[in-house]
Amino acid sequence: MSSSSFSTFKVASRSAVKGKGKAVLRPSQIQLGGFDESPLWNHVKVTGGAASGGGNRHWMCNYCNKKVTGSYSKVKGHLLAIPLCGVTACKNLSAEIKKTIKKEHDDAERRKNIRILELVTADKKLVT
Ligand SMILES: [Zn+2]
Repeated sequence: MSSSSFSTFKVASRSAVKGKGKAVLRPSQIQLGGFDESPLWNHVKVTGGAASGGGNRHWMCNYCNKKVTGSYSKVKGHLLAIPLCGVTACKNLSAEIKKTIKKEHDDAERRKNIRILELVTADKKLVT
């Protein structure tokens, strides 16, 4: 499991370093489901996979250049200032960027919930 996601990361990183500030290194391309469940990776630069494996990666915040090792939940914790994520909140976000980040996150969560709802509904159809 972790080895396959790591190889996805390698493939994705190869094409990512072009451009100045715009191109962002992402741990994986959009996979199953056809939508992006983790849009906030766009706001950090992934610099490598962590030795501890799992979903952990080395990444650096695009706004305050803070270097963090951790999974997507820490990216969210940093950018959305979620407490108890093991990471401090970003101090360099303008109100506008905060709004954008929050919207991207909310959209992703909403689409995730819709997909779960569809799965549940499909299940019920099979049962009845
Ligand atoms: Zn930051």
